[in-house]
Amino acid sequence: MAAKILAAGHWLLAACQPCRFGKQPVTIGQWRIGEARKLALVLFSKVIGHAALKAKLIGNIREGRVAHAQLFMGPRGGGNLAMALAYGRYLLCQERDTVDACGKCSSCLQMNKLEHPDVHLEFPIFFTEKVKVCEPFTPQWRQAVLAEPYLDVEQWRDQLESENKQLRMGVDIAQEIQRKLSLRSFMGGYKVMLIWLPELMDTAAANKLLKVLEEPEPNTVFLLVSTDAEQLLATILSRAQLVKVPALRPTELAEALRERFTELGPDESMAIALRSEGDLLEAVDMANKNEEELFVFFRDWLRACFRREVSVAVEFGEAFQKMGRERQKSLMRYGLYLIRQCALQWQNVPELVRVLGQEHEFVQNFSKLMNHNNVDGIRRELETAHYHVERNANPKILFSDLSYKMMGLLRMPATA
Ligand SMILES: [Zn+2]
Repeated sequence: MAAKILAAGHWLLAACQPCRFGKQPVTIGQWRIGEARKLALVLFSKVIGHAALKAKLIGNIREGRVAHAQLFMGPRGGGNLAMALAYGRYLLCQERDTVDACGKCSSCLQMNKLEHPDVHLEFPIFFTEKVKVCEPFTPQWRQAVLAEPYLDVEQWRDQLESENKQLRMGVDIAQEIQRKLSLRSFMGGYKVMLIWLPELMDTAAANKLLKVLEEPEPNTVFLLVSTDAEQLLATILSRAQLVKVPALRPTELAEALRERFTELGPDESMAIALRSEGDLLEAVDMANKNEEELFVFFRDWLRACFRREVSVAVEFGEAFQKMGRERQKSLMRYGLYLIRQCALQWQNVPELVRVLGQEHEFVQNFSKLMNHNNVDGIRRELETAHYHVERNANPKILFSDLSYKMMGLLRMPATA
């Protein structure tokens, strides 16, 4: 049996290049907001993909069906915030046509800077002794969203330079919302209250918001933008019309990537698009940081685990520790993606395997090490590691623990 496993793992043992991560520190570049471009105008035409959804939203407004509260729900990097902003702009535009806002009227010019007096912006912040409302942070939030309308909570936290503090929305923010709603419309039309990540509201704030939603004021539209419906109060969910903004399609994402990274070839951008599973931020992250680095790290680390090279695994642990939390999470997500591809190959459904180039080669070979006894375990260990990274576990301990578990799993025989 051992000989059989070794034969399957031959590829992992053979032709191993000197481990670049053991010899030199991993380059860690935190992706900075707005690195790829300066200013994004949030128009429907600038929101990636989702053509049918855009048409539906536009149709609703043109036919006067504007729900009082709408919940733009979707995963990270799919564009829920961008879509909600484009919707708000279109709703307020004075010269809109059948496909988009004009981009030139006084309302649009204010929206270009996210400074429309009838668009109120609420988002999670970190509390200080004195500040528990959004107002003082609004210029920073505008800047972050204009640089990246696909913003996520981690990037926002980076922008605030408050890594270890919890982003929150408390009852003061709910009061701020009420206060803003009491203002008369400046332009005489709709008032838009955009609440980004309402799932981060504490219970008192959420209950206050619920009260406001239950007593709709005329010409006021709530745009709730959320990535996690499970965290929202069911009563809030039931008050809002659901607008699902799904993950991006690979073709849409690949095209968007090529617009941002002109040096990317079609194959390369498609490979990244597939790998990032419809998440623009993940895709941009990969393109920014030389996505190959993740692959090489993951492959060489597994190689060390298969060979049970404890000292090399320790070096990988040190490199992992230096990566920073976001990069560590990316590595785990990427590893899971690759392992899922391997599992599909192992299950004999190669037509579902979506990898190209050297990843394809890896999948072909690594899947031979998989069997009924280890396939779930490998996946579970990576999932658990991702979970713990997210919760600030000690990265070095976590990674060495993961390495030891992997060493056992990769040599696990196929029969009980
Ligand atoms: Zn306009």
